[in-house]
Amino acid sequence: MSDFTKMTPAALARLHLQYCQRYENLRSQGLQLSLARGIPSAAQVALSTPMLSLPGENDYMAEGDVDCRNYTGLQGLVEARRLFSSVVGVPPDQVIVAGNSSLALMYDCIGYAWRHGMCDSERPWGREDTVSFLCPVPGYDRHFRIAEEYGIKLISVPLLENGPDMDIVRNIVASDRSVKGMWCVPKYSNPTGTVYARETIDALASMPTAAPDFRLFWDNAYALHHLTDEQVEIANIAQLCEQHGHLDRALVFASTSKVTMAGSGVAVFGASARNVAWMLARLAIHTVGPDKLNQLRHVRFLKDAAGISHLMAQHRAILAPKFATVLSIFERELALSGVAQWSKPKGGYFISLDVLPGCAKRVIELATGAGVALTTAGAPFPGGRDPNDSNIRIAPSFATLEQIRTAAEAITLCVQLAAAETILDGAQQKIQKKL
Ligand code: PLP
Repeated sequence: MSDFTKMTPAALARLHLQYCQRYENLRSQGLQLSLARGIPSAAQVALSTPMLSLPGENDYMAEGDVDCRNYTGLQGLVEARRLFSSVVGVPPDQVIVAGNSSLALMYDCIGYAWRHGMCDSERPWGREDTVSFLCPVPGYDRHFRIAEEYGIKLISVPLLENGPDMDIVRNIVASDRSVKGMWCVPKYSNPTGTVYARETIDALASMPTAAPDFRLFWDNAYALHHLTDEQVEIANIAQLCEQHGHLDRALVFASTSKVTMAGSGVAVFGASARNVAWMLARLAIHTVGPDKLNQLRHVRFLKDAAGISHLMAQHRAILAPKFATVLSIFERELALSGVAQWSKPKGGYFISLDVLPGCAKRVIELATGAGVALTTAGAPFPGGRDPNDSNIRIAPSFATLEQIRTAAEAITLCVQLAAAETILDGAQQKIQKKL
C-alpha cells in the first residue's frame, strides 16, 4: 500500500478501478453487520447472569435496618454508596446511587438547574438569556442532545491528546458568563479513548470562570473499562476542585451499565456535600426512592473493589481481542495510505477513525451499501455536523470476532475507495479550472 496523496493520477485511477471491482464483490456478499453502537455483547452481559438470582428470597435487609422491599432510602443503600465511592472519588456520604441510567441522572440534573438553578445560581438557568456548554469534540452525541433539548448553546472545543484544548477553554469560561457547564468524559473518552492528563484536570479545577455556578459534568462512564495492563488512573476532580477553592464545581457521574447489565445497572453521582443536598432536595420531588433491590443485588454480586476488578478483567478478555482485530486490519490496510488516522485506545468502547476531510459521509454510505452499519456521520459533534466531515466512530464491542474481522476489512476498502474518488475528483477539478 503506497501513499495515495503522492500517487500520480493515472496510478490512482488504476487503483480506483480495482477498488470498485472489490467493492462490487463485497456488495454481492449481502453482509448484515454493525459496528454502530457501543453496547456490550451477549457474552459480556452473560458474565453477570448469576446476579439474576440475587439477592434471593430471604435477602432483602440492607445496612441500617433498611428493608429493600419498601420505599425510602433516596440516597441509595449505604453499602452501594461505599462500593462505588472510589469510582466517583468522593466519600460515601457524598455519593448518590440512583436508578438504572447515569444519562438520565445528567438529564435530570440539568432539568433541576433549569427550573431552580444550581445551589449557587443567581437564578434558574431557564431564566438566563443564554446558557452555553463547552463540548470537547469529537464527543458523546447523547450529551449534546440532552443540552440541545434544553436549548443550551453548544460550543465545540477540540479534544487534544491530553484532553480538551485548555487555552481555548480557559479563554471562553473566563469571559463568557453564559457558559454554565462543560461535558467531560475524562477517561477512555467516547469516541477517541482520550485520557485527560493530570495538568488538564488541574487546569479545569482551578480555572477562573465568569459564571459563578459553572459545573463540570464529569461523566466517568469508562472509569473501570481497561483494555490493557496499564489500567490508567486519572486525577481526582472533586479533590482538585476543593483544593482550588471551587468546591461545588464537579458533578461526577458513572454507572454499572457496562459493568453488569446495560439498562439494568445502577447510576452513581458524586459531588460536594452542598451539591448532594441540592440534588437530593430535587430528587425527593422526583421519586419516593430508587430500586434498592437492584442496588442490593449489585452489592451481593460485585462484593468489593476486588470483585469489580475481577469482573472487569473478564470483560477485557472478551473486548481486547476485538479492538486488536480492528486495529491490526487498519494498520495493515491503511497505515501507509496517507488517507486515514485512528485512535489506539487503552480502554473504553470505541475507536475513532479520521478519514480525508470531506470523506466520512461517503465512507459510511459505501459501508452501508455493503451491509456494514456504522454510527451516523457527524454524530460525535454538536448538531450532528462534523465541520471536516472526517470522523467515524467504530464500536467493536457487540459483534463477534469473525464479524468484526469482515466488517473492518470492508471499512478499510470503503475508506480507500472514498479517498481515491475524492483525490481523483480534486485532480479533475484542477484540470477543468486550468482549461
Ligand atoms: N456516558 C457515556 C460517555 C457513554 O458512552 C454512555 C453509553 O454509551 C453513557 C454515558 C450511558 O450511560 P448509562 O447507561 O449509565 O445511562
